[in-house]
Amino acid sequence: TIGANFARTAARFSESEALVDVPSGRRWSYGKLNDDVDALARGLLAAGVAKGDRVGIWAPNVPEWVLIQYATAKIGAILVNVNPSYRQHELKYAVRQSGMRMIVALPEFRGSDYAGMIDAVHPECPDLADVVYIGTGSWDALVAGGAAVAADAVEQAMAALSTDDPINIQYTSGTTGSPKGATLSHHNILNNGYFVTETINLTETDRVCVPVPFYHCFGMVMCNLGATSHGAAIVIPAPSFDAAATLRAVQEERCTALYGVPTMFIAELNLPDFASFDLTSLRTGIMAGSPCPVEVMKRTMTEMHMSEVSIAYGMTETSPVSMQTQTDDDVAHRTETVGRVHPHLEVKIVDPTTGLTAPRGTPGEFCTRGYSVMLGYWNDPEKTAAAIDSARWMHTGDLAVMYNDGYVNIVGRIKDMVIRGGENLYPREIEEFLYSHPDIADVQVIGVPDEKYGEELCAWLLMKPGAPALDQAGVAAFCEGHLSRQKVPRYVLVVDEFPMTVTGKVRKMDMRATTVELLG
Ligand code: ATP
Ligand code: MG
Repeated sequence: TIGANFARTAARFSESEALVDVPSGRRWSYGKLNDDVDALARGLLAAGVAKGDRVGIWAPNVPEWVLIQYATAKIGAILVNVNPSYRQHELKYAVRQSGMRMIVALPEFRGSDYAGMIDAVHPECPDLADVVYIGTGSWDALVAGGAAVAADAVEQAMAALSTDDPINIQYTSGTTGSPKGATLSHHNILNNGYFVTETINLTETDRVCVPVPFYHCFGMVMCNLGATSHGAAIVIPAPSFDAAATLRAVQEERCTALYGVPTMFIAELNLPDFASFDLTSLRTGIMAGSPCPVEVMKRTMTEMHMSEVSIAYGMTETSPVSMQTQTDDDVAHRTETVGRVHPHLEVKIVDPTTGLTAPRGTPGEFCTRGYSVMLGYWNDPEKTAAAIDSARWMHTGDLAVMYNDGYVNIVGRIKDMVIRGGENLYPREIEEFLYSHPDIADVQVIGVPDEKYGEELCAWLLMKPGAPALDQAGVAAFCEGHLSRQKVPRYVLVVDEFPMTVTGKVRKMDMRATTVELLG
């Protein structure tokens, strides 16, 4: 189980650093972290939290997030990751849908009054017995209450757990609609965290900088479980993403690994004072979560010194990773593909209409099967049955191509594919090409309704600092001779930012709605 694995690491590397919170300067060795986790776990038991009870955590990246993660894991309470950007309505849904018994939250964060929102929804959440606020008397009281239970109560609770028990409800990013609560077992996420970091050769000498949110699988599995299953240190640069704070933390804490979604690496590389940071301690890291532009991968390898950086592909529902590049793959495979299938997993690419396996080299829906597939969506058998078929294959909704050598390229989401005049167009290919324009910092391509062709392409551009704005004619001229005519965006919008999820993903759904409004 997660708790037993953590206790083993803590015993083995008790003196090594486990957790550093840069903003507050607080630090934990593995020995101290395990002690604090146990004290908190006893407090949870004393408060009446039992195996299978749902405990929510609603906070940005603060060290208490990690304490709660391991304390609930030790006693078998199911941790419910609540998105820090939620507001009242979404909070109420998550609390009620999961049947949450306790919520642990930051009372306030950058103008978000979490306590006020909890107060407002509480009367409509009959199962919610306890509210605990981090950094206040209620947190201290929870820990102090633990003195009332027997010293070996946590050991005993841990001994009653099975690796196949549900231990976590993780909501998906909500990139394509309402977030869905994936129910995951110890076996699901502990193994995945281990294999993801085994692939980047993480050891107890590594220090992992974590700018991605803990609430999401990238943070809590690939960073936290990945780091603690190898004895590496977790470094928190800031409570929520801040490009400059991230690079400062890498420099000051001599981090060896840096994680992020592509938009985070793009923001870091485009900082006006990027060159002033000393990033030479970096060796490796993981870029994942959305398509990783080849140019950005190359720049992280050279300008950020992450020569061993790896691309991972996965989804919340599959714990999350199923494909990953390896450090000994050649540079082309490490920048242009998402690598090969992870150990102990099966993968197939199927024609979405016939369900038959697509020939190598032909796009189809990416499906995976094995230990990583979630138990199901929490209390939602219908959605579960739509995603996992009777042979336990998870249908991801992503389009991919598998080549003869087994490497895979993610072409995009089925929902984002554009059908123009009966022809399938993949925005990813066009984005990748436009990204090579020297003045373009970031680019997203979407389909918008069109009377004549069904759909037309629209490119949203973020220009580099000081670069002149490009118009449609400028984009068309750049594409001339490189992309076939139907792939040249019909509309071009220059913007200051893209609509994003907290996990750093672009909400193309919102972009489509805005574009339709703008174009009238
Ligand atoms: P929702 O399911 O709520 O709409 P989401 O799919 O973004 O949101 P996550 O589980 O956080 O929620 O993300 C998984 C998705 O992210 C994958 O299905 C895929 O579309 C995309 N993705 C992840 N890694 C990569 C990658 N390396 N390259 C391309 N796409 C990726
Ligand atoms: Mg999804």
